[in-house]
Amino acid sequence: QAKKAGGNGFAFYAAEMSALAREHLALENQLRQAIENREFHLHYQPQHDLQSNAIVGVEALIRWNRPGQGMIAPLKFIPVAEMSGLIVPIGEWVMQEACRQAQDWQMRGAEPIGVAVNVSARQFKDPELITKIAQCLESTGLDPHLLELELTESIVMEDPANSAARLKKIRDLGVSISIDDFGTGYSSLSYLRQFPIDILKIDRSFVRDVNVDAHNAAIVTAILAMARQLQIGVVAEGIETAEQQAFLAQHGCGIGQGFYFSKPVPPADCEKLFERRPARTLAFGIVR
Ligand code: C2E
Ligand code: MG
Ligand code: MG
Ligand code: MG
Repeated sequence: QAKKAGGNGFAFYAAEMSALAREHLALENQLRQAIENREFHLHYQPQHDLQSNAIVGVEALIRWNRPGQGMIAPLKFIPVAEMSGLIVPIGEWVMQEACRQAQDWQMRGAEPIGVAVNVSARQFKDPELITKIAQCLESTGLDPHLLELELTESIVMEDPANSAARLKKIRDLGVSISIDDFGTGYSSLSYLRQFPIDILKIDRSFVRDVNVDAHNAAIVTAILAMARQLQIGVVAEGIETAEQQAFLAQHGCGIGQGFYFSKPVPPADCEKLFERRPARTLAFGIVR
């Protein structure tokens, strides 16, 4: 009886797997078409100085509007893009477009706005990465100090020796490096000494109840104290309420982003936010 149940369970599992595999394959093919048909665009979420409220930078976030299917969430297609390697050309496009946009805003009279771009594991491992970043800065004319690359702890910890060398080369271009979703990885903190890191982005799971949950408050204040000692900047992600904003500002968090300020929005809407709150300070490179 047990064996039979097990057998059925396995058969069910195998069927599930192939359904998932089929879905992946379909998505992969659609992604290939999406690259060709230019179905991607970027939204930008402003990052605010928590003392002055000024916008000091934006994070570029990819959007895929698949004709007839509507928006497909990055959390759904980025992993497939990553596994298939398609993230490399997609990521290149993201970086190029984000730099172009940031430079364009500045050319049309906005204060210099930093732009943060998410970099995936596969992209970080690309031996051509440094050359591609340099080419991107060259072709768009963007000041390298205005570009920030967001990497997660697990990406940089996969191969620490190579990461250190690679991060240094990125830094040598004048580009800043931030650790995204900080606090959610399983890595030791020692990498903060080994790697040239400019900014820690406190994960939104710690920000969520920071003003009411003593544990989250303790974690966030500890991160802030540590970052101050190490002279690393901090960006809090996922600020949704005035209470969270106030808590973070009071405890010396430099920069924040989240729905409280704005959702990620198309470039034209983002420009309107700049007009309301002109930038005064640069988001990136503050600690250097
Ligand atoms: P992430 O880099 O940690 O980006 C933050 C995510 O949190 C974004 O989701 C953003 O819309 C969302 N968010 C921002 N503020 C709030 C808030 O106050 N509350 C809540 N609940 N959510 C908030 P999104 O755009 O769906 O992106 C999800 C993830 O997909 C990103 O997480 C990033 O890991 C990845 N991703 C997005 N764009 C790119 C890209 O161009 N390249 C790569 N490699 N990954 C990307
Ligand atoms: Mg990010
Ligand atoms: Mg993040
Ligand atoms: Mg996150």
